[in-house]
Amino acid sequence: VAHRPPGPDTGEQSQTASGTIDVAALADWLRAFAAAVGAHADELTTLDAAIGDGDHGINLNRGMTSVVTTLDDLDPAATAPARLLKSVGMKLVSTVGGASGPLYGTFFLRMASASGDRTVLDAVAFAAALRAGLDGVASRGKSERGDKTMLDALGPACDGLDAALVAGEPLPAALAEAAHAAERGRDRTFPMVARKGRASYLGPRSAGHLDPGAASAALLVRAAAQTLGGTTAPDD
Ligand code: ADP
Ligand code: MG
Repeated sequence: VAHRPPGPDTGEQSQTASGTIDVAALADWLRAFAAAVGAHADELTTLDAAIGDGDHGINLNRGMTSVVTTLDDLDPAATAPARLLKSVGMKLVSTVGGASGPLYGTFFLRMASASGDRTVLDAVAFAAALRAGLDGVASRGKSERGDKTMLDALGPACDGLDAALVAGEPLPAALAEAAHAAERGRDRTFPMVARKGRASYLGPRSAGHLDPGAASAALLVRAAAQTLGGTTAPDD
């Protein structure tokens, strides 16, 4: 958030205190996700090589690199969250390919729809948008939790975020809980037998490996905790 220009009112609440997410914050989140995908591309590809076709890290890295160029051309002052999220979703659909391109694309397109015409998202609106994205992936993928997919990280993340917000936790703490929930969900895919996607072709042999999509989805949620909380969230 270092490059966000200071607000006109010096007494303005910080992002952390107000708990709202503007377009610049969303762009920070997506840049952080792109950086994480770049840093973990080989690892994601290795996971996909074990139970798929070994392209997940390459595919997603290509897509997020392209998203970052879109962000570079963006004027945050002239863009609403829905428009940003929609352009990200369309970019991912057109650049990632495979199963995960349309699914991640749908995730962001549904987030865009859920954002409506808001100029900023408060914590509850952001959580609702994430859940709309989750539901979009499930309906587009005809998948559910337990199928050993990205839903197994995204689902617990949405539940964790909602529970923390209902308990009155501020956004940074709630996002940190969501990130931990996503990582636990990712780890719980290890023993699962895949029921969707390429990994399902392996049947019982898909057990004993982390799902690559759950691993990338955990990076997405961790990136949110690191950026949208408005403070440096612990990333243990
Ligand atoms: P492909 O399998 O076409 O090569 P990727 O390797 O990019 O695509 O992505 C694979 C990931 O996509 C899987 O690890 C899984 O998390 C996710 N995935 C695949 N099919 C589905 C589905 N029907 N629903 C949800 N996620 C899915
Ligand atoms: Mg693949």
